[in-house]
Amino acid sequence: MPLLGCIADDFTGATDLAAMLVKEGMRTVQVIGVPAPGEAAPDADAIVVALKSRTAPARDAVAWSLEALAWLRGAGCRQFFFKYCSTFDSTERGNIGPVADALVEALGCGFALACPAFPANGRSVFQGHLFVGAALLNESGMEHHPLTPMTDANLVRVLSRQTDATVGLVPFAVVEQGPAAIRRAMTGLKEQGRRYAIVDAVTDQHLRDIGTAAAGHALITGGSGVAIGLPQNFRDAGALPPQEDSARLPAAEGHAAVLVGSCSRATAFQIASARDHAPTLELDALATPDAAALAQQALDWADGRLGTVPVVISASASADKVAALQAQLGRGAAGALVEEALALIAEGLVARGVRKMVVAGGETSGAVVQRLGVQRLRIGAEIDPGVPWTYGEGSGPAMHLALKSGNFGARDLFLKAFAS
Ligand code: ADP
Repeated sequence: MPLLGCIADDFTGATDLAAMLVKEGMRTVQVIGVPAPGEAAPDADAIVVALKSRTAPARDAVAWSLEALAWLRGAGCRQFFFKYCSTFDSTERGNIGPVADALVEALGCGFALACPAFPANGRSVFQGHLFVGAALLNESGMEHHPLTPMTDANLVRVLSRQTDATVGLVPFAVVEQGPAAIRRAMTGLKEQGRRYAIVDAVTDQHLRDIGTAAAGHALITGGSGVAIGLPQNFRDAGALPPQEDSARLPAAEGHAAVLVGSCSRATAFQIASARDHAPTLELDALATPDAAALAQQALDWADGRLGTVPVVISASASADKVAALQAQLGRGAAGALVEEALALIAEGLVARGVRKMVVAGGETSGAVVQRLGVQRLRIGAEIDPGVPWTYGEGSGPAMHLALKSGNFGARDLFLKAFAS
């Protein structure tokens, strides 16, 4: 039976958390959306339900999160984790506060810690203030985020605006003293009637100590960083056997491919680096603004080229070409056209025996996974930080997928991914 049930407010955040749990020794499966009531839980120590609730209306975010909680409880999970972004992405009204309120109430636990710190990625919390690198959150660029502008770095204040409950702080000086002091501070805040405590953390050791202190908590909320200490609690309790290799996936077979819909800079370097070593096709969406025709071109080209060296099929284009297509079709329609083309190509490649695929681009990955009918991803070893191989299962053939958000991964990612 699974031990830890997680609810993530977006898809790539879910993968990030899942990869962290795998590294710390829990076999982890990410499920896409809430499974049907009564649907059997996958064989795993941790399950992460990936929602798309970060910027949904608060009412929807709450309803989906409660459905996810009910399913995870039904699956037998003993502890629950609400995962949000390490930059606390939310609006004045939600959704972190409303979702946490609903989960605390449903679990009857009365209290939850809140810690988005992720020192390895430069996110730290000091005196309740969130820093991105050396900058306060509200001076980090996040104040200009198109959907969730973060204009206040004081998380006690930010969370207080999203809930009727009162929010306390477990400050650095206490966290430095270790798990017993953190536990005492959290118990004290709960007894004073606080529903939440923002907990400071600037090192991984702080996160591990917070995890230890929260062993008995029904609900933990935060970024993927604070999950780092939770697997050890289950090992200490004798519930999680030491894993030989929690990242092990079924053996990979079939042909290899890379599909690129990201126009981000890191991705452009990765295409350039792969070009000399793998057959590469660059689609021209401006010349052929038709998803089905683009897909047919790509699949005709791929026929006869498929094998263990990946074919690289890219829609990525320079900023002026992207702008030209957007001017012609509108921004949304241009993106949707390219996503549709790549989803059709993915489907055609799978029909031709591709079973190992790297997909570059967050939105692109969403479109491909949806088209392939993938419902679950078992998380394997990382190719590069934040980019694990996964084993996707659902209505189509099971296959290995690596879903890469645009700016992730080293230059040689596309070839390294397939080097055995
Ligand atoms: P990233 O993770 O780099 O942000 P995404 O896949 O999330 O990548 O977003 C990239 C978007 O750009 C997708 O909607 C994709 O369809 C779109 N796109 C890709 N190539 C082109 C192009 N040549 N012209 C217009 N839009 C494009």
